[in-house]
Amino acid sequence: MRVVVTGGAGFLGSHLCEKLVARGEDVVAVDNFCTGSRANVAHLRHEEGFELLELDVSEPFTIDGPVDAVLHFASPASPVDYLRMPIETLKVGSLGTLHALDLAEAKGARLVLASTSEVYGDPEVHPQPESYWGNVNPVGPRGVYDEAKRFAEATTLAYRQSRGVNTGIVRIFNTFGPRMRPNDGRAIPNFVRQALAGDPVTVSGDGSQTRSICYVDDLVEAILRMMDADHAGPINIGNPHEISMKDLAEWIVRLTTSSSPITFIERPVDDPTVRRPDTTLATSLLGWAPKVPIEDALKWTIGWFRDVPHGTEPLSAAATEEILGAAEKH
Ligand code: NAD
Ligand code: UDP
Repeated sequence: MRVVVTGGAGFLGSHLCEKLVARGEDVVAVDNFCTGSRANVAHLRHEEGFELLELDVSEPFTIDGPVDAVLHFASPASPVDYLRMPIETLKVGSLGTLHALDLAEAKGARLVLASTSEVYGDPEVHPQPESYWGNVNPVGPRGVYDEAKRFAEATTLAYRQSRGVNTGIVRIFNTFGPRMRPNDGRAIPNFVRQALAGDPVTVSGDGSQTRSICYVDDLVEAILRMMDADHAGPINIGNPHEISMKDLAEWIVRLTTSSSPITFIERPVDDPTVRRPDTTLATSLLGWAPKVPIEDALKWTIGWFRDVPHGTEPLSAAATEEILGAAEKH
């Protein structure tokens, strides 16, 4: 197969590229490096059949040669990133998705859209099944991301139904692992960075809000199953392991053997209170369930953050803290 991965130099995209190359597929990673980095795929550059193209998928683009699948993963994903790039986020979710679908249509390829649990907003149904329509504030700070993804889902389904493009939608719940940027502002990289530095670990609100956290290897396995299938979705992909942010922070402090104190900061506007995937569909349609124990996954991720130099950061730690602070005051 020849697979185009948009956002291929990002956290999830780079793991997808790596697994596809290991499977023997040809891979074209496309990225504009707004939140990703060449370093994430540097180890693949000498692999036969791997290509990295610098382009912005919000502008029209074509790929030479045959394409069998498009994994559309390009989009800022961390609240800190989409707060500093609101228009770019709206554009990549809308125009970028249209362009990726045009490519899939032109090549007769299957397209898998990386949607998000954020389409459920601050959910009033718990856990969240795919049949739940969500509770999103379109004009809150998170609206630029949530609504872009909701538009992307509607567009993807329209191309399937009116143009016969083979599409699939996955709704990804919080996923973590090596190659997340230590300053991307998401809870796990933030807590690990702070704990390793001996800095206070910043928990928002009283830390009772929950997320359900999935290791990247489990996620990649599910995405490749979705690529190989022909289900339309949407299908939730995530680990139902639900944990409060305070418990998560304390767990990470313990695993890093850090003496960092926990400090409480203001809760961001519209921050979802609970989140847990109902994964019944993923299990019945894809035969998939997450396997990696979260404690092992946290240890590996902490090990990676310890070892890797942080020289390729689009944002400094100070800039990340400043944006998080501004969001809290919003
Ligand atoms: P990431 O920021 O590490 O990766 C996104 C990649 O897309 C980056 O390499 C970035 O440079 C690239 N990109 C952004 N806009 C682009 C554009 N206009 N043209 C080309 N490339 C562009 O984030 P991630 O966590 O790897 O997320 C990847 C995808 O998965 C996103 O679509 C995100 O919405 C989705 N997702 C991720 C999670 C998660 O927990 N990691 C959860 C839900 C959904
Ligand atoms: N969070 C936190 N401290 C931080 C960063 C995030 O307590 O330094 C909280 C955030 O307010 C949210 C949860 O952790 O309640 C998950 O945030 P993240 O950005 O990782 O994911 P998302 O909110 O997009 O699910």
